[in-house]
Amino acid sequence: MDKTHLYQTIEDKSKIFTDLSDRIWALAELSMEEIHSADAYIELLKELGFEITEQIAGIPTAFSGRFGSGKPVIGILGEFDALSGLSQVPCSAEKQALVQGGNGHGCGHNLLGAASLAAAYAIKEAICSDQLQGTVIFYGCPGEEGCAGKTFMAREGIFAELDAALCWHPGDVNEVTTGSCAACLQYEYSFRGLSAHAAGDPENGRSALDAAELMNVGVQFLREHMSKSASIHYSYSDPGGLSPNVVQPTAKLIYMVRERTVRQAKQLLERVHKIAQGAALMTETAVSWRQIDGTSNTLSNTVIEQVLSENLQQAPLPAYTSEEWCFAQQLKDTFHSTQLPGQRTEDDPKLQAYVRKQTQDGTKALNDFILPYDRSTAFNPGSTDVGDVSWLTPTAQFTAVTWVSGSPGHSWQNVSIGKSSIAHKGLLYAAKVLAGATADMMSNSKLLNEIRDEFSVAAADGYDCPVEYGYKDGSQI
Ligand SMILES: [Zn+2]
Ligand SMILES: [Zn+2]
Repeated sequence: MDKTHLYQTIEDKSKIFTDLSDRIWALAELSMEEIHSADAYIELLKELGFEITEQIAGIPTAFSGRFGSGKPVIGILGEFDALSGLSQVPCSAEKQALVQGGNGHGCGHNLLGAASLAAAYAIKEAICSDQLQGTVIFYGCPGEEGCAGKTFMAREGIFAELDAALCWHPGDVNEVTTGSCAACLQYEYSFRGLSAHAAGDPENGRSALDAAELMNVGVQFLREHMSKSASIHYSYSDPGGLSPNVVQPTAKLIYMVRERTVRQAKQLLERVHKIAQGAALMTETAVSWRQIDGTSNTLSNTVIEQVLSENLQQAPLPAYTSEEWCFAQQLKDTFHSTQLPGQRTEDDPKLQAYVRKQTQDGTKALNDFILPYDRSTAFNPGSTDVGDVSWLTPTAQFTAVTWVSGSPGHSWQNVSIGKSSIAHKGLLYAAKVLAGATADMMSNSKLLNEIRDEFSVAAADGYDCPVEYGYKDGSQI
């Protein structure tokens, strides 16, 4: 089909989508608390003629908007949660909180959700005018930053009806995301002991804090004996109390255990459980644990990645004004970065040469070009709940430029630029890429078969859900 219609539909309604993004930016609600943000989406989806499903998988802020009928069914994923402590005055090159101690969209999820909705709307209009046939579903996926909303949705089989799913993420480069990333299991360990006066009758005390410390030491020794792809992170969610002259009767730790696959992560987790039991035995305390959340490793689908790559080329790239270049440069001057952009650049000398030329040796403030796609088997040690979607349906993602080149993740700089015209241009470009790729898949059954064939092989082991409980059963903090 002629994609200029899709692009024009997005341009004609661009203000609706950029306004939505700005509204979500201002609400800046945290994971699983995105009540007003979800309401804003649902209201707009209804206005635009989508059929709404609310409270998916028992999560108050998970929802979907569906349009069309029959096959193929394509899902477009949206996120909208913010991060704590990142409140920032918009469009400013100075670090300055808008609300003291407030939240901010340091990961650009205000743009992420709005672009995905814009793409779903363009597809809906194409279905209405008989240019496309099938069903498009926009998924409002909450809690990406802290609670793995998509995993709890996937646990209920939500994405299994799809022929394919697409997602994107704000970034500093226009690039198809390829390779895989780690599975991750997050648990809280609670130690319970006996309180006593630390000097008066220490022999009567059994310190939960000591147990927590011994667990951390035990895990430290485990680290030498894990595979190279594994990593373990921890924090104290409850150190007991603030008084050193009290034997602490309670202490809690949060652990994240990452490995290449869910099966491997579960095996490593068993060893961490044993260390917790050992720490409790040594200190004569009791220990229990519960899962907070989990995410699966991502399965890549190179056929969809190729489709995304073509659509990154086909959609018109944003051009920036001199004011935008100037603001971007001011923001770039607030941090130091020597890394060249692109997920594969470091490992590929040919790509490095290309990127050096395009970025004038990494000095350009905005990466106004597209990185060439090449399939990669590279392993990213981070995790995402898009991984769980990728086990239920063929899934692929890309990044589009909304941030300054080299901008740190989860930063005030990303919050600041998130409401600017630069970010809005990135939002609309991402929407066009998503809409174009969806149209390609909807109108080409041979392509969909190829996508399915690759998925069948990759997901042959079946989905091993990384969360033990449904969201309603109290697995969240
Ligand atoms: Zn993030
Ligand atoms: Zn993010």
